[in-house]
Amino acid sequence: MIDTSGKSDDLSGKIPKVDDALLEKARTAAARQTGAYAPGEREALVKRIKVLLERENAVLVAHYYTAPELQELADETGGHVADSLEMARFGSEHPATTLVVAGVRFMGETAKILNPEKRILMPDEAATCSLDLECPVELFTEFCDAHPDHTVVVYANTSAAVKASADWVVTSGIALPIVEYLAGRNEKILWAPDKHLGSYVQRATGVRMLIWPGSCVVHENFKADGIRRLMEKHPDAKLLVHPESPGEVIEMADVVGSTTALIKAGSTLDAKKFIVATEPGIFYKMKQAAPGKVFLEAPTGGDLATCESCLRCPWMGMNGLRNLAETLESGGHEITVDESIRQKAVIPLKRMMDFARERGIAMKNRGNA
Ligand code: 13P
Ligand code: SF4
Repeated sequence: MIDTSGKSDDLSGKIPKVDDALLEKARTAAARQTGAYAPGEREALVKRIKVLLERENAVLVAHYYTAPELQELADETGGHVADSLEMARFGSEHPATTLVVAGVRFMGETAKILNPEKRILMPDEAATCSLDLECPVELFTEFCDAHPDHTVVVYANTSAAVKASADWVVTSGIALPIVEYLAGRNEKILWAPDKHLGSYVQRATGVRMLIWPGSCVVHENFKADGIRRLMEKHPDAKLLVHPESPGEVIEMADVVGSTTALIKAGSTLDAKKFIVATEPGIFYKMKQAAPGKVFLEAPTGGDLATCESCLRCPWMGMNGLRNLAETLESGGHEITVDESIRQKAVIPLKRMMDFARERGIAMKNRGNA
């Protein structure tokens, strides 16, 4: 039984931790996708995938953290490159009968929950997320049951089963207005699973929440000291930070926001140079949106060092042209969600999407976190 004497930190020792062996396994799988192409291989794969997308009446929806070649292909074939909220909206509104989701598993599950009639394929359905892994449904429901007077708000980076036990789903793009709305109705809030995003929301809104102690293995690595030294070297640069980063890094930011908000800030802010604390897959769209501007990776270690493997999301890296072609060819890696779970999980997800629509919070090009 969980000790729920008021401090969600009591859970810290109980939640499963993502260990090095698991990360190494994902990196090995990612290396198979991102390894150098043989002469002509890339062009041949792109050509084959275009034919297969047509044949399968499929559309490609890719997250900003995936490899540039996938983002390019999504754009070229009438698909979409987006943050997690906009991926969900696009997939629901597009007429294709198959959605191919290049991203991590919770994004594929979200697509299935919202579109049960569609076939959802992923290049590798084993691509997961540390936030999802650190919030197992049994432990989570025990925690919720111990706080029955709380409204349960979960980040989109969770399993379908966790969403099924929530009242609301949020993404980083819509967390602040939803928490403000709930607090305005005097609701007590239980937040899961990202402790950094939860603390940020708490500071930004002034709303106290019970916070699950999960974290993102990528954003957790950004270091305030290293960023400070890089800012000293580049005093003209503005700092853009995703709110899954530690609080001391968020405190230093000029802009804190979802992936979409950070791309927008890079193109609209009156600065030529930016230090970016998020997964570097985003640089592809950032540079496209602001040609001529300079984007620097925020350091993840001492002495301005950036550890390439700490910076890359190992699971996003598991998406590539090779396994995308195979999936479309064979129909493998299809995402399924148990129907009883789906029927429950769709309620908080639709609540979020209706909230966005009703409040005119455009899911495209949102400016706030
Ligand atoms: P966005 O909702 O901003 O796309 O973020 C998803 C994610 O996994 C960030 O690490
Ligand atoms: Fe999850 Fe972090 Fe990867 Fe985003 S970057 S998918 S939060 S592990």
